[in-house]
Amino acid sequence: MSLVVDTPGAAVLPEIAATRHVEPPSGEREPLKVSIYERMSKSNAQLMPIFPYDEAGAMVPCGAVLYGGADRTHPHFFHWNTVSELLVAWGSNEAMIASGSLMATQPFHGVNSFLRDEKKEGTFALVTITQRQSSEAGQREALTAKCESCKKDILRFEYESAPHGAPDFEAAAYTEADDVFRQFSTQWGGVEFVRQRNSDAVRICEHCGHENSVFEMSAWGWDRMVSQTSVANAAYQSLKASAEEVLG
Ligand SMILES: [Zn+2]
Repeated sequence: MSLVVDTPGAAVLPEIAATRHVEPPSGEREPLKVSIYERMSKSNAQLMPIFPYDEAGAMVPCGAVLYGGADRTHPHFFHWNTVSELLVAWGSNEAMIASGSLMATQPFHGVNSFLRDEKKEGTFALVTITQRQSSEAGQREALTAKCESCKKDILRFEYESAPHGAPDFEAAAYTEADDVFRQFSTQWGGVEFVRQRNSDAVRICEHCGHENSVFEMSAWGWDRMVSQTSVANAAYQSLKASAEEVLG
């Protein structure tokens, strides 16, 4: 097959067009679609994966619903991730990120509510943060807290977050080895980070002696998601055990 063209090298194009194709789905990740608005109206934590796929090579969109109010507080922290993150704002009001905007985060980035005034009723941001899980070894994350007074680091909690299927995946690193429904590494890391952050040894700054306030996790909700994921696994095992007993 040949084609008369005046661009050097372009004669090979028909050949490529005839042979290049997208591989059919392997069946490993069944195509799913959700409405981000519907899904986030029932979410239990920030950075909730909206699809059940988190293995090596998977794109993992995670939703967050942030909103202001007199009693709302979203303690600030820093996140470091070896994989890229892309934020999309699906709707916001009086937030640092306008509705419809996109933001590619730096590997080390500050995290807060993104609201101009988190104490103001009616302010909100509904966003997704999407990361692509590494297929190679070396995926890691860290969460850092700085002293409210002198701004120096009081804690940097770094951990391995290699996804299932990556060469360095460790089943017990951030999820239980026999979990059927895996913990999401950032949620697990968040809970461990807050546990260490709120210990007296970390909270009282070693640089300036300032007694930092307790890190309130309720608006982030990581402990809820980690606990509910543990319960979901236990419930699944419980039914399986009952079925085996009854059915033999
Ligand atoms: Zn300090």
